[in-house]
Formats: sequence, structure tokens, C-alpha cells
Amino acid sequence: MSIAELYQKFKVSNGISTDTRKINEGVMFFALKGDKFNANSFAHEALSKGAKYVVIDEAEYATDERCILVGDVLYTLQKLANYHRQQLSIPFVGMTGSNGKTTSKELVAAVLSKKFKTYYTKGNLNNHIGVPLTLLGIDESYEIAVIEMGANHQGEIRDLSNICEPTHGFITNVGKAHLEGFGGVEGVKKGKGELYDFLAKSGGTVFVSAKSTALLEMAAQRKFKERIDYLADDEVVMLQDSPVVRFSANGSQYETHLPGSYNFENIAAALAIGKYFGVSPELANEAVSEYNPDNNRSQIVEKGTNSILLDAYNANPSSMSASIQNFINLKTDKKKVVILGDMFELGEEGPAEHRLIGELVAKGNFDLVVLFGELMTNALEFLPNAFYFSDKFSLHNWLIDKQLKDSYVLIKGSRGVSLETVVQFL
Ligand code: ATP
Ligand code: MG
Repeated sequence: MSIAELYQKFKVSNGISTDTRKINEGVMFFALKGDKFNANSFAHEALSKGAKYVVIDEAEYATDERCILVGDVLYTLQKLANYHRQQLSIPFVGMTGSNGKTTSKELVAAVLSKKFKTYYTKGNLNNHIGVPLTLLGIDESYEIAVIEMGANHQGEIRDLSNICEPTHGFITNVGKAHLEGFGGVEGVKKGKGELYDFLAKSGGTVFVSAKSTALLEMAAQRKFKERIDYLADDEVVMLQDSPVVRFSANGSQYETHLPGSYNFENIAAALAIGKYFGVSPELANEAVSEYNPDNNRSQIVEKGTNSILLDAYNANPSSMSASIQNFINLKTDKKKVVILGDMFELGEEGPAEHRLIGELVAKGNFDLVVLFGELMTNALEFLPNAFYFSDKFSLHNWLIDKQLKDSYVLIKGSRGVSLETVVQFL
């Protein structure tokens, strides 16, 4: 079946599903394969739960004419998403970067929503499956789209760009993230630069953070039809980053709910893109100051006499250092406590990067340092007074005994260590 024919069937379906636990009547079900499952074997279940069509790639599961047999289900999903994308003539703002993608995406969407009906990536659906699903969720009523693209190896952003075909785009930053898959920081620049490559080749518009020498360098290596450097002038000025970012724009001052000077660049991107698309400065500033982070990303949680800077969603060397540096700068009368967990996906750089974190934490003179995870043992050599735990049970019990009070607590670690679990014991 051609993609155009499949598209006709998609148009009369009630959206897409890839999960038999979430089937709405009339959906088109895509039977994806994962490491541990083969959804071809759920095709029948999907039909019995009300799917209108099932797209499968194993002939033995084809039971009737509702089963659409293709060569490869994932590839077909991506092709269909791109076909759908091509039917829409709205601006597509594509974005990637080592850190701050989701935050920036939400901020850009918040600003654009003040003027346009804006579609944007839900949560963190930013990979080879998430991007197609995101695109297929856009209907004709939307006026603009903001699409987050994530990657942990070369070629991924190229592929996602080819599926999404952004007309506009930006890279939040390039840093030490997914070093293992990308092959070092130079590899990260190349991998993230694939978005610049796409925009240069397709005549798109690029927004470049002028505060980042790496991004300026990468942008200079390519020729764009339109390039806007933000933070090149002082239209937006950061006033304070502690405990939350305050900024001044056009003579007025705004306070955000976002902690950390690193968020200033995320804000600046949103304001630059809003300005480009004609959102009034007042509305754009309002959108940014109203935005409240969730999902354990840079959240400030008040619990009893403790304040918690919950940044446990994820961690890599760049975001970990940014977070710790920010915490060092934080002015508070409370005791400063850091609870830090392992950073993953660093390959052979892992031990050295954890040692660097140890050195940085040592400079902070925190009242209490708590480390969790095998890699964090590397940080211990700089932190003789730190409390170390290799299992969650002991960490939780220790916190229960400790009964922290009047403390400002920074919690950060990779997704795999889920450090947000400690909050209930603070
Ligand atoms: P993921 O790769 O998981 O999709 P992401 O790039 O979407 O991550 P966010 O979820 O927005 O990033 O933020 C994750 C964490 O990165 C934040 O909680 C914060 O610690 C840090 N961070 C956010 N923005 C920046 C930035 N501009 N520079 C450095 N670190 C940042
Ligand atoms: Mg994200």
C-alpha cells in the first residue's frame, strides 16, 4: 500500500495508537517492536478493543482486511508522519540541544500561544517514535508547531529533521550529554549541528544564542537564508538568578518561577522567537513569567521548613555543574544540602566527570553532601565529609532518621536513579 493510500485510511481513523492499553474507538494501531516486545502479537487485541486498522509487519498476524501489512512498521509510521507534515503549511519550529530542550520548548510554546493556536511536543516525546507521533497529532486547526527533537547518537537529528521538516529552528546549547553515543563534545556539536544542516539546506530560519561560542562557531560554518542571533544585544537583561530568574525587558521587570541562571538562555530563546513571530513583548514576558515547570525539572518545592530544588528529572555533566553552580550562588539563611546521584551514558569519561563534580561540590562548602550511586564513589575523594549510599533503602532510612529542618536541598541525578523518591522523606 502506498503512503498516500495509507494516509487516506489515517484520515478516517480516530488518531494513532501504539499501545493496546490506550486504544480509543476507531484508531489506527501501529504494531511497533521493542527490545522486549513485538506488538504484532497484540494486533488482534487492538482490533477487538476498537481499532479501525492495525499496521503490522508480520504476515502471520494478518487476520482480515483491517490489517495493513507493511515492510517495517516504524519506518511506515515515520513516512506517514512526514507525509502528514507536508500537508500542513504552518511554521514548524524544530529544536534540539544537550540541555534545556523541554524547558525551552514549553517556554517557546507558552509565548507563541499568546498569539497563535500552538501545537507542541507533549512531555518528552522527542525520539524516532515520539516525533512522528507528535506530528500525527497536529490537525488543520493549528497555526504553528514547536517540535522537540532528542538524540544520543549521530544521524538521529538528521533523520528527525527529515521527518519533521522544520521551517525554523534552534539548538539550546551543546554540552556534555550522551558523550558515549556521540563520541565526545566535538561529536555532540556534529550531531546537534544536523539541525543547522537541515535549516541551511532547506532555506529555513535559524535562531542562535549569541552567548554560546560553540553555537556561533557552528552557525558560522553554514550559510542560512535567515539567521537571528539572540542575546546579541541587551534588550533582555538578567537581574537575578537566585532563587529564581528575574529579568528586565523593555523597561519592565519580570520574575519567573524558574531557578538557575542556565534558564536565562531558555527564556531568551522563547522571547526571541516570540518577537520574530510578532507576539507583543508584554504578552511574551507575561507568558514566560507565568510558566511553571513540572516533572521534577527545576521545580521549587516547599515542604515544612525545607525548600527543595527538585532537579531530579535528569543529569549530565553540563546540567549537573550548572545546577550546582546555581546552588552555590543561591542566597539563603537555610542550611544548604545537596543530594546527588549518578550521571549515566558517559562511557569511559564517567569516573573523571564524577570526579569533576566532586571538585565543584567541594568548592560549595555545603552544610551537608549526600551522594548516591556507584559512579559517585569517584566524587568522594574530594568530599571526605560526604554521606554515601549505594542503595535507595539505606538512603531513605538515613533521611528519615536525619529529619532535615530549615534546609535548602538540591536534588539531582540521572533519570535512571530517580532521586525524586527522596522528597517524601524530607
Ligand atoms: P532530555 O534530554 O531529557 O529531553 P532536555 O534537554 O529536554 O532533557 P530539560 O528537561 O528542559 O532538558 O531540563 C533538564 C535539566 O537540564 C534541567 O532540570 C536543568 O538542570 C538543566 N538545564 C536546563 N536548561 C539548561 C541550560 N540552558 N543549560 C544547562 N543546563 C540546563
Ligand atoms: Mg526533553
